[in-house]
Order: sequence, then C-alpha cells, then structure tokens
Amino acid sequence: MDNRFLIDSKDLPFCKGCGHAGVAQNTEKALQKLGYHPLDVIFVTDIGCHGIIDKSLRSHTVHGLHGRSVALAGGIAAGLPHNSNKKVVVFIGDGGATIGMQHLLVAAHHNFPMTVVIHNNMLYGMTGGQPSEFTPCGFNTPTAPNRSAVGAIDMVHLMEGVGASYVSRISGIGDFSDELAEAFAHPGFSLVEVMEICPSYGVKSNPGMKLKQVIETSGLQLHKNTTPRQAIEKESYTGFIQSLITEKLLVKQEFQAVRSGTVRILLAGSAGEGTQSAAEFLAKTAMLSGLYATKKGHYPVTVGVGFSAAEVIISDKPIFYTGSTKPDFMLITSQDGLDYSMPKIKNSDKAVILLDASLPAPQTTSSVVATDMRGKAGSRNAAMISVFKLIKDYQILSEESLLTAYSRNKLSAKVPVETFTANI
Ligand code: SF4
Repeated sequence: MDNRFLIDSKDLPFCKGCGHAGVAQNTEKALQKLGYHPLDVIFVTDIGCHGIIDKSLRSHTVHGLHGRSVALAGGIAAGLPHNSNKKVVVFIGDGGATIGMQHLLVAAHHNFPMTVVIHNNMLYGMTGGQPSEFTPCGFNTPTAPNRSAVGAIDMVHLMEGVGASYVSRISGIGDFSDELAEAFAHPGFSLVEVMEICPSYGVKSNPGMKLKQVIETSGLQLHKNTTPRQAIEKESYTGFIQSLITEKLLVKQEFQAVRSGTVRILLAGSAGEGTQSAAEFLAKTAMLSGLYATKKGHYPVTVGVGFSAAEVIISDKPIFYTGSTKPDFMLITSQDGLDYSMPKIKNSDKAVILLDASLPAPQTTSSVVATDMRGKAGSRNAAMISVFKLIKDYQILSEESLLTAYSRNKLSAKVPVETFTANI
C-alpha cells in the first residue's frame, strides 16, 4: 500500500509546469490538514485541462459539461443528508467559469454549501489558448496576440456583489494549502480564484512574463473577503432545489413491480427515430411501479445524424452506476444501432437481442429474436414498439403500468396505442 492520500498517480496528467498540478497537490494537503478522508469529498469538474485530474483522484468524482460543474454540485449538495460530513468541491477553469457564470452567481447568492476553486490561467488551455472573460489587459493568447483593452472580469468582486460569504484570489505558486483549507472549512459557499500560468500557451504567447507581473499589471489584486452569513438552513436549501422540481416531473408509484432484481437494457437505433424518448418512457414506466430507474443517452456530437442509443437500468435497489457493459436486453432497431451495439454484443453471451427483422443477425451466443419493428410501426416508432415487446414478452413490468404510462405520454395523442399492442 503506498502512502498517497488523494492523488492516485505520481504523474499528473498536465503539461510540465502547469499550474493545475499545484492546485491538485495543495488541495490534497489542505484536505489532509482538515482531517477529511478522500471518500468524504465529492469533486465536481467539467471540461478543460483542470478536469482531467478527476481520473487521478481517490475520491468521488463527477465530470460535467463545460461550465456546468457548479450546477451539478448544487444538486449533489442538496441531496446530501442533513449534518453530512461530506464536502463538495468544484474544480472549474476560467473558461468554464465564463460559460457557467450564471450558476456561480446563483450558488454564491443562495450560499449553497460548496467550495469552488477556479483554475484561472486566463485562457482556454484545452482548445489551444483562446481568451476567456478572465484574460487581463496585455496578456496575449495564441488566438488573440494583441489582446484588447477591455480586460478581465473581476470574479471576486462580482461574487462579493451577489453576497458570497467567502471569496479569495490567490497566487497559485508554492504552498497555498492553508488558503485552500480555510475556504474548505468555511460553512456555506466559498470561492477561491487561483491565478496560474499555462506554460503551453500563456508562457509561449508572453515570453518572459512572470505570474506575479501579470497579476500586478492586471489590476486584479490578491484579495480575501469573508462576510459571515448565516449558514443556509438545510431545509431552505433543499426547499429551493425542490421548488425547481414541478409536480409534472415527479413520478409516483401506482403499480406493483412484477419482478425483483436489476435489468439492464440497451436501446440502439438511429437519430430522429425516437430512441431517447422510448428509453425515457421505459424508465418512467418502471418508476410508476416503484422501481429505481436510470437512463443514459449516447449519440454523436452532431445529434441529428448517425446512431442514437440509450442505456436503461431498472432495479428494486438504488442504482449507483448507470453504465452497463453487458446488457440483459438489447433492442436494436436500425443498422446504425446495430453498428453501435457490436462491441456490447461481442462482450455478451447471454443477452436477449430484439433485432429488427431487416437487419443481418450478428454472430453471437446470445439469443437473437428477429422482429419486424420498422415495417410494422414505421422507423419513427420502432424504438417504442421494441419497448412494448420487451415488457409484454419478458414481463419486465406489468402491462397495466405500460398502458397507463403510454396514455400519459405525449406520443399517445398522435399514435394510437394499438400501433404497438396490435403489432407485437
Ligand atoms: S495546455 Fe496549458 S492548461 Fe492545459 S495542461 Fe497544458 S499547461 Fe496546463
């Protein structure tokens, strides 16, 4: 057993000299000083070089869309039990903070319990050094070699303006673990902006420039301000979050589950053919029977073409991991879906594969059930018909719950239920 605490690697995944390494190492030290166990900390990161640290952390990690880590962290903090000893830490870059500024303002305004660490290297490092709203006057980047005189947003003052109870701007050189520890120990919302340099783009575009000099000439003084605010009551925090969840989104149990255990289902079709909607429908139908359900979508960045796939897990126990390398059922409704599914088909030997009859049967020891789905219900309804067939033929859920869920689904106004019940 090695003696590493939080960081699970000797070699951090950054370019040599990157300031993000210092943030990770000082974070480790700060959490040790405060006596946290790594599994008492939930790190939420998002897109940007800073975010690739999460694969090296021995803690809980969540990696979100660009600029959305604060929003995700708000949900996580709201879901923690009252008096939890867990700590929510957001790692975000200056690019992410620019994109997700609204989330930062709301989190500070409402005093959400989390610490946000902005890795401010004053440019978008991951994508080649474009300027962000944190790029100060006179700081050149590869795509903006003559930076305008507009200058950087002063994030610390902006946060103070919305009532943040703890903000600081520090230099990311040397040992700054005490500063981080102070922020981590602060109840409610705290934000630390760590000023850094990106050697690959910042140093190259500003030869000879030192971080100290950048900070001095930027007008962004190192700064700390704590304005004690009454720690937000857990009830009012969760109440705020719950106010965002309308009755329309809640699914209450109306039926009994007809089987126990966990079922993993892959739906795979083509873009624009209702795969995601059918998967969501399946998950909601399970919830109507009081089961836990997750749905995870997969599709190319260009969402309108190519495959569209979704993994649904249904269980009578809480689901802690939403992926499935070996689904129990694969509902494949198009050639795109079949191509996408091939690695999972090769990986599985006992799955049941409902395959549209127009598709070539793959070589597998799993059970392949050829079914005319596209021909009978049309390509746009093939995914939904596959869900009806799954429930009817394999008793995943009760037919009663299926019919009730469909009667409430907006598709039912356009496509009569007989399209699915009569054809399977
Ligand atoms: S590109 Fe810049 S920010 Fe990204 S890892 Fe390299 S030095 Fe760090």
